[in-house]
Amino acid sequence: KIFPGDFSNSPLPRATPKVLFATTETAGFEQPELIAFNEALSTEIGLGKFEENDVNFLVGSQLPKNIQTYATAYAGHQFGNWAGQLGDGRAIFAGEIINCEGKKTEIQWKGAGETPYSRRADGRAVLRSSVREYLMSEAMHHLGIPTTRALSLSLTGEDVIRDIMYNGNPQYEKGAVVARTADTFLRFGHFEFLFAQGEHKLLQDLLDFTIDNYFPTIVPSNPCKYKDFFETVCRATADLIVEWLRVGFVHGVMNTDNMSILGLTIDYGPYAMMEEYNLNFTPNTTDLPGRRYAFGRQAQIGQWNLWKLANALHPVINDEKFLENSLRNFGVYFSEANNKMLCKKFGFNEFIKEDELFFSNWQSLMQDLEMDHTLFFNQLEQIKADTDVKDHFSPITYTALNEEKLKKLKDFIDQYQYRLRLNSISKAESLELMRTTNPKFILRNYLLYQCIEEISNGNTAMLLKLTQALEKPYQEIFPEFSVKRPPIYDNIAGCSTLS
Ligand code: AMP
Ligand code: MG
Ligand code: MG
Repeated sequence: KIFPGDFSNSPLPRATPKVLFATTETAGFEQPELIAFNEALSTEIGLGKFEENDVNFLVGSQLPKNIQTYATAYAGHQFGNWAGQLGDGRAIFAGEIINCEGKKTEIQWKGAGETPYSRRADGRAVLRSSVREYLMSEAMHHLGIPTTRALSLSLTGEDVIRDIMYNGNPQYEKGAVVARTADTFLRFGHFEFLFAQGEHKLLQDLLDFTIDNYFPTIVPSNPCKYKDFFETVCRATADLIVEWLRVGFVHGVMNTDNMSILGLTIDYGPYAMMEEYNLNFTPNTTDLPGRRYAFGRQAQIGQWNLWKLANALHPVINDEKFLENSLRNFGVYFSEANNKMLCKKFGFNEFIKEDELFFSNWQSLMQDLEMDHTLFFNQLEQIKADTDVKDHFSPITYTALNEEKLKKLKDFIDQYQYRLRLNSISKAESLELMRTTNPKFILRNYLLYQCIEEISNGNTAMLLKLTQALEKPYQEIFPEFSVKRPPIYDNIAGCSTLS
């Protein structure tokens, strides 16, 4: 029995002892309660089906044999400033599992206790943030977007204090642990940390380790391997951000310590799915008024973060011209990938010169009319030449359409229909492109909010329903989820970052 028994195949902590990690113990919770278990993922990574008592492993109370639990050190730039040393403040390494195909997956507990990197925080996670991570990371996976994944969600049985004062009293929230997985949780910040410490030899060791283990397309004996590595990370980051824009995901805290070296979506904090299209939208209430991490700035920030990574890798790559060039190419690569993505959303088989203007008209339409990003594309699919545009689109705008706005919408639909005629694929093929690119279901913030309320009251019906919906996001499983946000939830588009 491997689960939760023996991890003897698991390697010891990374070969950078005492610099990049510190061994740590989990807190241990006496009465954990499993809320959700991702059996498909468990099977895929080689852990198998859930058995009684496994919850004790899933919250870090009962450890597999031969496992050395540890937390890693990293550094990072937060909101544009060097933040120095950070680290896994409430994430603990829970082993590496190898499935029958030999594929290795790392498991972490999030919220299982303090680590040497917790600083003054408690190493705990609350139910609210844990539900948000559990559901959204799985939603991203099923949307086809690279992400860390969620294996389980459990209550710890502990109340956790969070400094939300209410009538002068601190507020308690239920503690929870998410067991999450990734090929690796290595971040830009790990490399920045070694660079900042002047550990250039270890930096190179970590690069070799990363390339050997996670970048199979790079030949280890290739003399340009570090350059290839950086370019691969640039492309993966650009591809990831294009995917975020495709579905309207706003990460909310794109600090360099939250940037995966594999281009995975990592660290689900104050993220949100954008509803009404707005390039300035940020769900992160601590990012106001700067809006550094707003929806429309994510590519620019990705590039800024890569620049910080380039600085960190400089001692090994040792070629400023090359690094500058790669960063410049990021912009070009991103634009091309983004144009391709937008073409698919509209059902165009290829990008043509005129699309530049078409896309910019579209952005201004969306922004002016406060159209719902997801519903807009769903309805566009249904548009027939004879549909009355006003009746068709008004339910997805957030403001009443006056004459001027209505005209803008009609003009745009005319442009769209004209552009469709330039397509060199059939209408059916074009529709298929749209259907596989535009989700019917996104995890709107108010749905998460309702779900968290229900779970807090001991009811998991909505959790199950959302799980079903997010597993098939390109279908409309529950029509009641494919509607505009009810106005009573207008105020919760943003969210507290307390976690
Ligand atoms: P984040 O904004 O989620 O990227 O977190 C920034 C840093 O704070 C990370 O190094 C986290 O590990 C740490 N951190 C956040 N919340 C806690 C907590 N409750 N206990 C310990 N460390 C935390
Ligand atoms: Mg983080
Ligand atoms: Mg976080």
